Amino acid sequence: AVNIFWFRRDLRFTDNAGLFYALKEETPVLPVFIFDPHILSKLEEKADARVSFIQSTLLRLKKQLEDHGSSMRILYASPEAAFSQLAAEFDLKAVYTNRDYEPYANERDATVRSLLKEKGIGFYSFKDQVIFEKEEILTDTSGVYKVFTPYKNKWLAKWQNLQLEEFFINPSSANFHETKPYPVPTLQEMGFAKSSIIIPPSTFDESVIAAYDKKRDFPAIEGTSRLGIHLRHGTISIRAAVKKAATLNQTWLNELIWREFYQMILSNFPHVVHNAFKPQYDLIPWRNDEEQFQKWCEGMTGYQIVDAGMRELNTTGYMHNRVRMVVASFLTKHLLIDWRWGEAWFARKLLDFELASNNGGWQWAAGTGTDAQPYFRVFNPESQTDKFDKDKAYIRQWVPEYDSKNYIKPIVEHKFARQRAIETYKAALK
Ligand code: FAD
Repeated sequence: AVNIFWFRRDLRFTDNAGLFYALKEETPVLPVFIFDPHILSKLEEKADARVSFIQSTLLRLKKQLEDHGSSMRILYASPEAAFSQLAAEFDLKAVYTNRDYEPYANERDATVRSLLKEKGIGFYSFKDQVIFEKEEILTDTSGVYKVFTPYKNKWLAKWQNLQLEEFFINPSSANFHETKPYPVPTLQEMGFAKSSIIIPPSTFDESVIAAYDKKRDFPAIEGTSRLGIHLRHGTISIRAAVKKAATLNQTWLNELIWREFYQMILSNFPHVVHNAFKPQYDLIPWRNDEEQFQKWCEGMTGYQIVDAGMRELNTTGYMHNRVRMVVASFLTKHLLIDWRWGEAWFARKLLDFELASNNGGWQWAAGTGTDAQPYFRVFNPESQTDKFDKDKAYIRQWVPEYDSKNYIKPIVEHKFARQRAIETYKAALK
């Protein structure tokens, strides 16, 4: 008999809760990863850097297993088809996995669980990608938090008393299923190509984290961790990150709590995937000018900081948080374009794309979400530049023509756009 450990967004051996519990059993463990055509078919770019990243991470883990006489089974199939196949091939006792909280993942897991149940196979899931799940941080009257600060305070209070578990795994001596190496579906077979985008390393830069509160707001300097993609795919563990944060920098810890806050919001209010968190904001009559949207996507708005951000995103798969706020505000307020359009562009481009955080960030900027930026506050791109990129080092890097005749004229005038946004929101929310 074998047990399966199903890898999803936890692509590591170190400190992996579900894998740890699977390996505690006597039955040998076969590690499995499934490339799900339902997810892959939504990706619009052939050379999607995230698919390359997942593929190369899996190959690394697989190689480690093969050095010790095991392997990883990597399938390209719907999870239902994959598990039907695995159940036919092996004497399966149980499937172990870590919980994933997105609406599609919940549905998928329910389907797989019942398919396995019919065959008498267990399905066990574990908390791994967050410190606290949605029902663990509630108000004193067992309600759900809708605002960050009290949520954070409760989180911190609970965290003070928490003995973090350590899930130590040694791949060389662990009880993995013995097998010859398995073949791997190639990127080409799945319709993708290798990306040339460089992925930042999955190591904690302690000097960056220690100075985070002082340096995090300036896009021209390396003031943030760049660990987003690794937290998204679990190539580092959230427990390790939180431990670092606790000793190095409280402000950085707050950011990790924002991540959990938005996961909690998405789990409790799945309507946010399609609609405003606050329903009355669905009444805003977006202008949705397609030509202007295109200009925004390309970084050709004539607003230096906005264009710098969009070009950084399109080239590297990353955009600094301060600039994400500026470009999101510009799209939704200055251009009155639906936040969902911007959200989709970010989802397509960001290496660290995470449904919960991206949705939360966009709804915050558009004023439609929890803790939102009030609608009458409209980011002024110029004063944001004065505060956070005073000598224009960031702008110069991404928009070198910014001070020449060749630079395009602004596609909308700031004062006019600001007034129009405020009036439009005000009328819609009356
Ligand atoms: P650091 O600044 O070093 O922070 C460490 C980690 O904390 C991040 O990697 C991330 O996991 C988490 N974090 C930090 N800030 C936030 C935040 N505001 N909300 C939630 N988690 C946070 N973050 C994503 O991870 N994925 C997204 O798709 C995403 N989309 C965004 C869209 C908009 C419009 C905005 C305004 C913000 C978005 N963010 C998103 C939040 C934030 O911008 C990024 O997490 C951060 O810039 C990533 O850089 P870093 O890895 O250097 O993070």
